[in-house]
Amino acid sequence: MQYAFDIGGSNIEFGVFDADGSVIDHRKASTPREDRGAFIAILSECIREADAKYGQSQDIGISLAGGIDPKTGAVISANIPAIKDWPLAAELSNVLGRKVLVENDADCFALAEASSGAARDASIVFAIILGTGVGGGIVVDRQFVGGNSGIRGEWGHGNDVTGTLIKHGLAPIACGCGRTGCLDAWGGARGLERIYAQIGGAVRASEDITSGWRANEALAAKAIDIYCDLVARELALMVNVLDPDCIPVGGGLASETALIEEIDVRVRKQALGRYDTPLVVPGANVRDGGLRGAALLHQMPARPKRR
Ligand SMILES: [Zn+2]
Repeated sequence: MQYAFDIGGSNIEFGVFDADGSVIDHRKASTPREDRGAFIAILSECIREADAKYGQSQDIGISLAGGIDPKTGAVISANIPAIKDWPLAAELSNVLGRKVLVENDADCFALAEASSGAARDASIVFAIILGTGVGGGIVVDRQFVGGNSGIRGEWGHGNDVTGTLIKHGLAPIACGCGRTGCLDAWGGARGLERIYAQIGGAVRASEDITSGWRANEALAAKAIDIYCDLVARELALMVNVLDPDCIPVGGGLASETALIEEIDVRVRKQALGRYDTPLVVPGANVRDGGLRGAALLHQMPARPKRR
């Protein structure tokens, strides 16, 4: 049995997994974004009830929408002010009296895919999130890479896609990270909607744009073409760097299988290496990959402590 939390900016999910990796209990609550006391109370209540129900005291794995400073254990998060700069694992461990491990949600998704998902036979897994924006997690032989800063896999920031934007007649915008030209502003669902609006379309939800594309609407097709150009270019660079065995996709756009196929074809065409079979594929744990990955954290070998 394993307890796991998936903590996002909107919701906290709690899951109890049995030895086979099946969810046998699940709870969901709104995230108290500003109130640390309420935040701790929700987690404590889930644990107290599960302990009473199952008569055990399990360790806890947490998938977090944010990073963890490896030197201090402090949360790096813009989404949840209540726990920003707070050593989440150590403090919860004190409160709840058991071992707590925390990792980034994209990393947890990558771990879930590498363990039991679309990348279960793969050695080098670069899982990407095409959600509101763009994120990613890297797992090599079932281990996370990196660990110096607590920020990794962020292929949506630090890019300069301005040239591609201008080529398509789009106007660059400032990214939330403070730079201009990041893929994050264009590579997720909000980015697709932004492209559609900037090429003359109305304000339209991403799922309506993709369905318009599948129905051969010209403007939707143009938006998808630009979107795939932007995403595939940056992803091909990541493929050149990592030479991954599998790129499972999570996030809201992962359910758009035709879109993922289009990105896959373009990425493999642009990558320097030869990839004869699909590389970019829909993840198998899109709905609960964070929670599922969090439940696996205690099975990973401990990483050396950073100074
Ligand atoms: Zn950025």
